[in-house]
Amino acid sequence: MGKNRILSAKTSQDIDQRIERVLKGLGNPEPPLRLEDIRHLLKIDRRFYTAKDPSIVKEAISRIRVATIQVYQRPTLILDAIKKFSLKALYLPDRKRILLDGDLPEKKHRWNEAHEIGHSLLPWHEDVMHGDNAHTVSADCHEQAEAEANFAAGRMLFLRNRFTDEARATPASIALVRQLHLKFGNTLSTTLYRFVEMSGQDRPIIGMITDHPHVSKRPASHDPAKPCRHFIQSPAFATRFSRMPETDMFTAVASYCGAQSGGPLGRSEMILTDDNGDQHRFYFETFYNRYDALTLGVYLKAEARIIAA
Ligand SMILES: [Zn+2]
Repeated sequence: MGKNRILSAKTSQDIDQRIERVLKGLGNPEPPLRLEDIRHLLKIDRRFYTAKDPSIVKEAISRIRVATIQVYQRPTLILDAIKKFSLKALYLPDRKRILLDGDLPEKKHRWNEAHEIGHSLLPWHEDVMHGDNAHTVSADCHEQAEAEANFAAGRMLFLRNRFTDEARATPASIALVRQLHLKFGNTLSTTLYRFVEMSGQDRPIIGMITDHPHVSKRPASHDPAKPCRHFIQSPAFATRFSRMPETDMFTAVASYCGAQSGGPLGRSEMILTDDNGDQHRFYFETFYNRYDALTLGVYLKAEARIIAA
């Protein structure tokens, strides 16, 4: 996922209209969106490849009109090519076929599949997309196509404005993020990203996905210099609190979290200092689902300034 480049209003609108047509074609379904229904509607075929069974990729790769990959014809070398080019998924326009890396955790398939469906819906991608890797086309062109496919995937999986409307209709909380995660069927991290982004356009909100914050529960792999798997700042937060390092935020979160092995770990009001040096009150809460700790921090109000006489 990562940070997307900003698409032009015209491009976003064009892509969104294509997603709208697809969803309309399915009778504007209720969440969670079933990607098999979309594949059926668009007559797209899906196959998985694995390190143990690369035959499907061998067939695909030989069809890709890209010189750098055409070199690799022998199956063992094709796997090297996949690793080298970090191929995680492919869309083959001539076959209307999506190839997914079956070795990736299943929860990642949904986003990758939606991303490839996104490519399939954008006709101008046909010339540039013959495999998801950074080397087949110019980096800039590739980055643009990737951002467009990610935008399409997001609009699809979160049912256009449906998620945003639901996210904004209720006060922001971890409970709401978890509820939307289950309802829309997307991973906790993509849901948190979307939530922070959509609910935090004007209001500073921060989301973090980390190891268990309690010092006695941190795994051996915990990296104190990089404690957040995801450190998500809403647009309003990023503008006003740009100097807030993730290490400080994690330490602050750890200060109120208990050592429970699951469920809510704690909550606290916290004071954060903005880029102008002014102090603001936030409400933080953290939940542990036995894999990830999920933290949400929501802006409450500016702290009263005490001015000495
Ligand atoms: Zn792509």
